[in-house]
Amino acid sequence: MKFKYCPKCGGKLIEKYSWDEGGVPYCPIDDEMYFDTPKPCIVVAVIKDDEILLLKQSYIFKNSKVLISGYVSNGESVEDTVYREVREETGISIDEIKYLGSEYLSSKDIIMLTFMAKYIDGEIVKSEEVEFACWTKIKNALDEMKEDEIGKRVVNKVLCELSTKHD
Ligand SMILES: [Zn+2]
Repeated sequence: MKFKYCPKCGGKLIEKYSWDEGGVPYCPIDDEMYFDTPKPCIVVAVIKDDEILLLKQSYIFKNSKVLISGYVSNGESVEDTVYREVREETGISIDEIKYLGSEYLSSKDIIMLTFMAKYIDGEIVKSEEVEFACWTKIKNALDEMKEDEIGKRVVNKVLCELSTKHD
């Protein structure tokens, strides 16, 4: 997001030169630069044997299931976000998280950091913002995620990871 006004004092920002970045919006009152940075967000495919955890959250996609996702909060590592979002949305515990690369979502200025993780224990106790959460055979997951392009790419990476593991 390109800032025009200072989020702290509300004053109009001026341009300030910053080495490689060029002109950056700057508040002379707060002595703060506001870089045009994306919002970091995690997506995680939780795997239990040959199943994957899918959620239904109609505010994201009306007719598709999705993977667990959430914004990185200030003060936590991205890995902590993965553990926290899984716990908050489904109540289960995970481990062995593995980074699968990033995807940029230009329509929302989001940088999606994608992961897979292994289910450890716990029964699913879904949060209010989740309509339902269910284990689905990984081989059937893509059919249930029609609208979720990033989610489908994550599932394909998971399939690739799992197939190389068994070779
Ligand atoms: Zn300011």
